[in-house]
Amino acid sequence: MKPAKTPKEIKNFLESNLWEVQKPGRYTGGELNQVVKDWKEVNTRIALIFPDIYDLGMSNLGIAILYDRLNQRSDVLAERVFAPWEDMESILRASGFPLYSLETKHPLEAFDILGFSLPYETLYTNTLNILDLAGIPLFSKDRTDDHPLIIAGGHATFNPEPMHAFIDAFVIGEGEEVVNEIVDKYQAWKRSGDNRSNLLSELSEIWSIYIPAFYHSYYNSDGTFSHLEKRTKQVSLPIIKRITPILPPPTTRLIVPYIETVHNRISIEIMRGCTRGCRFCQAGMILRPVRERTVQEIVDAIDQALTNTGLEEVGLLSLSSSDYSRILELVTEVNNRFSGRHLTISLPSLRIESFSVDLMDALKDSRRSGYTLAPEAATERLRGFLNKPLSDEQLLDTLKAIYSHGMFNIKLYFMIGLPFETLEDVKGIVDLCKTIYSEGRRIIGRRTQVTASVGTFIPKPHTPFQWFPMDTKEQLQIKQDLLKRNLRGPGFKLTWNSPEDSLLEAFLSRGDRRLSNVIYNAWKMGAKFEAWKEHFRFDLWVEAFSIAGLDPNFYTHRTRLMNESFPWDHINTGIQKEFLMEEYQLSQKGQTRIDCSNQCYGCGILPVFDHLRQENSDVVWKCP
Ligand code: SF4
Repeated sequence: MKPAKTPKEIKNFLESNLWEVQKPGRYTGGELNQVVKDWKEVNTRIALIFPDIYDLGMSNLGIAILYDRLNQRSDVLAERVFAPWEDMESILRASGFPLYSLETKHPLEAFDILGFSLPYETLYTNTLNILDLAGIPLFSKDRTDDHPLIIAGGHATFNPEPMHAFIDAFVIGEGEEVVNEIVDKYQAWKRSGDNRSNLLSELSEIWSIYIPAFYHSYYNSDGTFSHLEKRTKQVSLPIIKRITPILPPPTTRLIVPYIETVHNRISIEIMRGCTRGCRFCQAGMILRPVRERTVQEIVDAIDQALTNTGLEEVGLLSLSSSDYSRILELVTEVNNRFSGRHLTISLPSLRIESFSVDLMDALKDSRRSGYTLAPEAATERLRGFLNKPLSDEQLLDTLKAIYSHGMFNIKLYFMIGLPFETLEDVKGIVDLCKTIYSEGRRIIGRRTQVTASVGTFIPKPHTPFQWFPMDTKEQLQIKQDLLKRNLRGPGFKLTWNSPEDSLLEAFLSRGDRRLSNVIYNAWKMGAKFEAWKEHFRFDLWVEAFSIAGLDPNFYTHRTRLMNESFPWDHINTGIQKEFLMEEYQLSQKGQTRIDCSNQCYGCGILPVFDHLRQENSDVVWKCP
């Protein structure tokens, strides 16, 4: 085994090589508010890894929150790691230098714990690539007591099975509290001198930690998943997701990048969860119950973050920011408190039903030219299946009000490939955009611009639509061609994903343990940066499936039976499978249900987390 590189060697290496790469600022660290601690002064060293490039990863709020929380402990340090772009990777590989952390330039293998953030499935091959660049065995079973503990969390890990072979421990759900419990267990284990298997046993005692090595999965003769069995009595089954009953104070010491990143703004989460119940939406299901921060807490946090960062934009984040119960009061208060400081407020996810003229007035500023709204489907009929009971009239009234406020840029999110969708519904996207454009021309004139951003429906685990098949490549192609033919000309812009991008996400999201071979094979053949057009190679995945003796269509285009067991059934989000089935059946009848903050439908959240409500008498969730 080669001796590990020292931080000094890595710094020297960077000094000699960074001039050769695009955007050297991705690899240097040293930004305002980064935390650098003395390695000898702390007990536990953690690398927080976002497995895509710096420009994307620096906008990930999850990493920022954990970085802040872990670094508040005097016995812990947390440093950041991102995937190197191909130019930097080539240099690292050619020179035999390992991937390192931005803060102190330690190689990854020197850390105690590596924590990967996996918000989406297309980061899986990058995760393997990072382990490889760090010189750490890819498979959990091949790691020894000397290797770092590899953990992962994020929305994609609500079906952890496709990555089960590579990750030692998954954190299912919210990380703010559990990270400290992991560190405490890790430190006790280190003191004990026990072996790695004992560490995993200890970790499995923590609520929401899933150690795949302690379970075995079985399959039926037709290839469907049968069940998961414990290998050892002590571990839990199911694994109940973690929630924090009250949202902890927002992170305000945000790192300010030197280079341009996707969102260079202060991000404050104002509310977590959503009660709307859109049947395709995984986040809406897995983030329940809804918890809000107070206006005072948010405004104070913005004040501190402005002082700490000097940034001029604040994003008030949630799945549906206009549903925050005091949104108007909040925006008005932010305007009043920070008037004269050139602060731009962005509400990235507005719900048409709760978007009001008053809110628009409050948000008015010189830099905004329009709004983004997400009707998802263009026809009332199809929105009914999705549980988005929004009338065409409501939608048009909102858009007219936006135009009347002088805005000329409208961006609309739609999906194609939805269950029950016909070509008429797809044509409905064209008709709706043209109607909106005509209204824009009438109200605001020639500057009117309508952008249709058309994604593809991908059935996701833990949603009422998890039983549905996904459209085939050919079906999607026909729908996209229809849009491309009909939605063009001055004033219109259409964006879409290639059907193959969506198929990749589809088979990884509802996959089982056998998919880990496919992921490994694909990576071995060169797959990485799947979310980047210039890197994505669908042919590698087809080949990887073939080597593993599996059929990708089995994972994507099959209607799943109501009594079928799913590889993710052992992950308990709090929502009962029966509730999802009920919603699935209602969708088939086109029946909608109103927002559950007005009427509880007994999804299961309250009984599962009842103890938290009992223990925290001041807990306020939007469950009536
Ligand atoms: S328990 Fe009731 S109110 Fe709460 S999220 Fe579930 S359905 Fe909605």
